[in-house]
Amino acid sequence: MQEMYAYRCDKCGKLHHPRYAVCQNPECDGRSFTQEPLEGHCKLLTWTRVFNLPEGYMKAWLNFGIVQFDNGVTATGQLGFDERPEIGMDLISTVGVVKEGVGKDYYGFIFQKP
Ligand SMILES: [Zn+2]
Repeated sequence: MQEMYAYRCDKCGKLHHPRYAVCQNPECDGRSFTQEPLEGHCKLLTWTRVFNLPEGYMKAWLNFGIVQFDNGVTATGQLGFDERPEIGMDLISTVGVVKEGVGKDYYGFIFQKP
């Protein structure tokens, strides 16, 4: 099973997603991180519908969203339902194939209604 992670700075504790080389806290220069699962309940901050998808997406359009997890981390991903999303709605994160590639599938967040 695929999982997604947040990366906690070992120096100041700030959580990151995705992983960075240097901590994004302006008052910290930490360069080592401890990964922890990034999953569960989140809230939709904003979304958009994309019609002109690159090769590898077997759909006419997809909704993409930015969510905030309960730990404060924000992340982007696909919205796994067709109804019109509402900003502020509660969602649950899942991880699945977001793009089919030749010999390699790409995994990412797919946010679902609870
Ligand atoms: Zn830090």
